[in-house]
Amino acid sequence: MSHPSSRRTFLRHSLQGGIALTAASTITGMISSCATPKKTTANNWPFKTPFNQQPLGYPYSALEPMIDAMTMDIHYNKHAAAYSKNLKDAAQAEGIASDSSVEAVLSNVSKYSSKIRNNAGGHYNHELFWKSMKPNAEQQPSGKLLSAIESGFNSFGNFKMKFNEAAMSRFGSGWAWLYIDNSKALHIGSTPNQDNPLMDIAEFKGLPILGLDVWEHAYYLKYQNRRADYVDGWWKVVDWASVQKRYESVI
Ligand code: MN
Repeated sequence: MSHPSSRRTFLRHSLQGGIALTAASTITGMISSCATPKKTTANNWPFKTPFNQQPLGYPYSALEPMIDAMTMDIHYNKHAAAYSKNLKDAAQAEGIASDSSVEAVLSNVSKYSSKIRNNAGGHYNHELFWKSMKPNAEQQPSGKLLSAIESGFNSFGNFKMKFNEAAMSRFGSGWAWLYIDNSKALHIGSTPNQDNPLMDIAEFKGLPILGLDVWEHAYYLKYQNRRADYVDGWWKVVDWASVQKRYESVI
């Protein structure tokens, strides 16, 4: 019979050793069958984000006029780069292997410091954010994702309205999400600060497929206090092909 604390020790060692999370989850599942029910959701999503910041896929000016070049430059090179650097520093201090995936860290984030929580979340959220935008965007999804949005939210227009509500009602800093839960259903949600649905401490859990940064640093230079105008502009640069690809790779 496995004691819960030994399972935690095993998980932490697995992460430190960089074992693929799917393998760790499988073994954890085997151990769980004769132990007390586990509290954290195992992360089986097929994505592994590295700790290093990835190159931006387009020039800083590519999303103008919806998002201005200076905001993109400062956001990517100062804010987002700092999350990646601080994550690496904190991971080293807390014994997390540098080749772990951010997803693995987030799924066990309750075991680490608030510095890990803020910076692993911040790094992950921005990596997804950059990949979810592009110039000359489609304006709306198609295929299986559009069907799922229409059946889950009645219409694409209604989905956008609900997502806008999540973005606008987030008090202070945070994110609005479109995410998939463990039963592969789509949901809209909002988290404070740099939290996200992959965290074991999140109010709602799942895989984000689209995220909107509503921190003031994401829009203040161009939009000042007008968050609603920023959100309206952001819809015009959403890379729906990328969101669809992410969705279709897990359903
Ligand atoms: Mn940001």
